[in-house]
Amino acid sequence: MDFMDFMDFMDFMVAVRPHIDRLSHPPRPCPGIHWQLNMSSMSSMSSIYALLPLHRAPPMNPPLPRILLRIVLAALLLLAPHTRATEPERIVVLTFDDSVASHATFVAPLLKKLGFGATFFITEGFEFLEDKEHYMTWAQIRSLHDQGFEIGNHTRRHTGVGKQKPADLEADIAFIEERCAEHGIPRPTSFCYPGYQVSDTAVEILARRGYQFARAGGMQPYLPSTDHPLRIPQIFDGKPETNLTHFKAAVSQAGEGRILVLTFHGVPDIKHPWVNTDPEKFRSYMDHLKEQGCRVVALRDLKTLLQPNAAPAK
Ligand SMILES: [Zn+2]
Repeated sequence: MDFMDFMDFMDFMVAVRPHIDRLSHPPRPCPGIHWQLNMSSMSSMSSIYALLPLHRAPPMNPPLPRILLRIVLAALLLLAPHTRATEPERIVVLTFDDSVASHATFVAPLLKKLGFGATFFITEGFEFLEDKEHYMTWAQIRSLHDQGFEIGNHTRRHTGVGKQKPADLEADIAFIEERCAEHGIPRPTSFCYPGYQVSDTAVEILARRGYQFARAGGMQPYLPSTDHPLRIPQIFDGKPETNLTHFKAAVSQAGEGRILVLTFHGVPDIKHPWVNTDPEKFRSYMDHLKEQGCRVVALRDLKTLLQPNAAPAK
């Protein structure tokens, strides 16, 4: 609506308002123009209506110039798109790599309390098979699924995809799918590149095996209109040196057309201190997401949230 259209609309609304009011209310003993001003709902046309004078006559004393009224209402209309009510939804994806035990013991309970979704990327690499103090058991992984979280594929051995022959890479991807099936977990549709290394061959294998989304590294928002869904960048990577200021700067980039995919490893991560996130720091990050009203989801949830804008997987 441009300014002149708006003026015509306002003329119309001013003309019809007394008739609408008479249908629902008896005439009020009103000496002048009364105003209903609801700042919290300024963004809707109904609140513009609420700003209209309840009665056209008698005029205000001193009279408010009509042009001034128009300017005020036009300014409110221009400001409306900037109010909270019309802001695009801010979507944040939480991802957790490397099957760390603290995902089950600390992260999942906290996220459940906050009502957040998340994807846990499972690998049997590192010391997963021997060290069940620091790495999850498959029973714990199954429990994450039972709690509504997404279980994603992070390959059997956590080898960089560029270092593997295509057949070996595919076998490592298939291995995690089979282990999920053994434990009653749905076949993963989300993938995480070990060491953030992407290759065309890996993208082709993932697409052929029905994967919808794959997360890499980087430090930028995911732009579904241009980025390939099997090459999704992260915008934040939880590490000992990152702090709440960094986190807030990343979250501030959420908005229309920009999805924020956040990466964490263990909280804490005893075996990989270079990707450790302190639990209290993590709690402050999650509190910030809650305060900001972000919609916090698993990677798979983007399928329904983004359609029909998501680029097709090839
Ligand atoms: Zn990893």
